[in-house]
Amino acid sequence: MPKRERRVLIAGGGIGGLAAAIALGRCRIETSVLERSGFAEETGAGIQLGPNATRALKALGVMEAIEPFAFRPEAISIHDGLSGRRLASVPLGKAAEERYGAPYLTLHRADLHAGLRKIAQGLGPVELRPNFAVAGIETLAGEVMAQGAEGSEARGASLIGADGLWSTVRSLVEPEASLRFTGARAWRALVPCASLPAPFDAPMVGLWLGPRAHLVHYPVRGGDDLNVVAVAEGGTGSQGWNQSGDAEALLSSFTRWAKDSKSLLERAAGWRSWSLYRLTPLRRWSAGPIALLGDAAHPVLPYLAQGAALAIEDALALAASMQACPGDPPAAFLRYEALRRPRTARVQRLSRRFGRIYHLGGPMRLARNLVLERRNQETALKSFDWLYGAAGPG
Ligand SMILES: Cc1cc2nc3c(=O)[nH]c(=O)nc-3n(C[C@H](O)[C@H](O)[C@H](O)COP(=O)(O)OP(=O)(O)OC[C@H]3O[C@@H](n4cnc5c(N)ncnc54)[C@H](O)[C@@H]3O)c2cc1C
Repeated sequence: MPKRERRVLIAGGGIGGLAAAIALGRCRIETSVLERSGFAEETGAGIQLGPNATRALKALGVMEAIEPFAFRPEAISIHDGLSGRRLASVPLGKAAEERYGAPYLTLHRADLHAGLRKIAQGLGPVELRPNFAVAGIETLAGEVMAQGAEGSEARGASLIGADGLWSTVRSLVEPEASLRFTGARAWRALVPCASLPAPFDAPMVGLWLGPRAHLVHYPVRGGDDLNVVAVAEGGTGSQGWNQSGDAEALLSSFTRWAKDSKSLLERAAGWRSWSLYRLTPLRRWSAGPIALLGDAAHPVLPYLAQGAALAIEDALALAASMQACPGDPPAAFLRYEALRRPRTARVQRLSRRFGRIYHLGGPMRLARNLVLERRNQETALKSFDWLYGAAGPG
């Protein structure tokens, strides 16, 4: 008789934790998702899902639940922020869907999270436990016990730390790991699409590049709202992902920008802000029956819009590994890490490089603009084959 996988505890019910519960649930592996909130904290910003992410969501059976709320941008339109000039366009829409067999979508994080939650709730092997903030973990004789801050307890044969950037579980796997402020801060706001002038009303992802700062915008909520994210270097780091943002401090990073480029920033209200951190590379992603997933294992800077995509891909690789090593979570976790580490490290590295390119100033900015202006659209899309292509979650 093949060995049966025993219950897996998942600390964190964000995008990665819920994706992992669905992936394991579809393999009939029981999970308990321990989430410190009421599963309703995803009030935040928008999210871009490249074809690698939507392909993974298709495999999880989640696409139908999110598509009604998603928007399909036609292209990424890249501009120089100082002059306002358009530099390049990367085709998305049909071109990307035909090339990669899955669409490029933009949507509100809350809509993605709600879709994942709906599918997870409908799966028999998945148990969702809200208001369970994992504060301690004990491993004893083949069993893992998670203790909640409120005195609650959960038991399983293994535990996945999907508890995000500021992971509690990570400190058990890699006590030496530390997060470092990158020197940049991000701001986000939503603007109703109905009131927008050109070029912000176009069905595009807009990307505006400038010295030490950049701006991204794209429609969410099926096209009703525009999600605006600005990233600027400077200031000091602070923990938290939903602080109220000081619009004047934000605008001071964009004073030299062309009137058109910064007019969007002046229109938006209710800014929230957070600091961008990077993690010193981990020596390992698991310790015996405890493993890390998503931002807890490999946070990425937002310049390639890939953090959630990687967490969703992780979920599929984790489930495949647990099926390949039944009844032996430590072996499954080593296999999962071997599958995922090369790709996640490449995305982390290239995200940092894209950030440096986005924020170039002086003569290097002009050289970058020239390169972008000379590239044809097909070459531009092709350059993302390694990321969006069907290479699989490994
Ligand atoms: C500016 C910016 C823009 C981004 N844009 C994109 C994008 O366009 N596309 C993309 O793919 N990615 C994007 N990302 C990255 C993406 O948001 C993250 O990579 C993704 O949310 C990671 O998922 P996760 O499940 O690992 O962590 P999270 O989504 O952070 O979820 C962690 C969960 O764990 C819970 N938790 C924490 N501690 C505990 C505990 N002790 N006990 C129980 N529960 C706990 C939290 O409440 C939360 O629900 C962006 C990130 C930033 C900063």
